[in-house]
Amino acid sequence: MITVVLKALDLYIKFASEIIKEGNVVGFPTETVYGLGANAFDENAVRKIFEAKGRPADNPLIVHICDMSMLNSDIVSSVPPLAYKLAEKFWPGPFTMILPKSDKIPSVTSGGLDTVGVRFPSNETAQNLIRLCGVPIAAPSANLSGSPSPTNARRVYQDMKGRIPVILDGGECEVGLESTVVCLEGDGVRILRPGAVTKEMLSEVCPVTVDGGVLSEVPESENVRSPGMKYRHYAPKAEVILVKGPLSAYRKYVEENADETTFCLLFDVDEKVDWIPYEVYGDSSGDQARTLFEALRKLDERGAKRIFARCPDRDGVGLAVYNRILRAAGFDVVEV
Ligand code: AMP
Ligand code: MG
Repeated sequence: MITVVLKALDLYIKFASEIIKEGNVVGFPTETVYGLGANAFDENAVRKIFEAKGRPADNPLIVHICDMSMLNSDIVSSVPPLAYKLAEKFWPGPFTMILPKSDKIPSVTSGGLDTVGVRFPSNETAQNLIRLCGVPIAAPSANLSGSPSPTNARRVYQDMKGRIPVILDGGECEVGLESTVVCLEGDGVRILRPGAVTKEMLSEVCPVTVDGGVLSEVPESENVRSPGMKYRHYAPKAEVILVKGPLSAYRKYVEENADETTFCLLFDVDEKVDWIPYEVYGDSSGDQARTLFEALRKLDERGAKRIFARCPDRDGVGLAVYNRILRAAGFDVVEV
């Protein structure tokens, strides 16, 4: 299969919508990361997403809408009042709610669950694409399963070349990490995956619980609420070690443990440890979110075998950065 990358102009968005209507898969930008989209109602089309990514069948897809009126009985069987309240505040945006699914959403889309994740993205290309398709779009991140999510079209092409026909290029993603995923629980929400809609922001609307799987490993035997959390995720080929502590202790640790295949992942160039090569992922949580996945991919390209990463703060969107880098590190944290 030939894969073409097209600039996200109206003409090409229309072309991409035709490809989706024919039952095929398209790579497209959202404000979080790039997605691989297909008609959420079309079982065969959705299966092609799982094939293209090599994604386990029990890992559900998020269904994307472009209008509140699409949150109807075609997608969900009921919508609690709190869901409307949250939608009003956080949609369109990087926010996904798990709701009871309708019969029209096939079980392939929901990974066999009786619930479905719904998101209304703010990215204009994504919205226009969904509108032109006239159906909700099921879309996971556009990477090969397990590797870091793509935040630009070049990275989608790298992973999906020969696997999907079209990629829409809408430039760099604004957020850089996947959406916040919540399920509704009593009069509040439980965060299953942190994102740019933070715990602090949600707390202004209702009580918030952070699921145990956000910050620690879920034992294989345990029944997870968010299937995506049980897989090795967001990981480069290199081994990542999260080094937690002040800069001076980080430097000392790196000097003592580095060899010729070690790279550093720093907040800032000033933190550089003498001869050791590095990538930088930013001082602020927002910059770290935007840059993390691209930095991990660059480290692989540069031949890193082992990465000593500075450990991010967990406030605001920092919790999402920490959650992703912790999984990239396979929960390997060293306190210095
Ligand atoms: P991705 O599309 O790659 O960003 O992954 C979507 C993630 O959202 C999945 O891995 C799940 O962890 C979560 N998710 C989607 N749908 C559901 C659902 N119905 N119930 C629980 N978690 C879900
Ligand atoms: Mg993903």
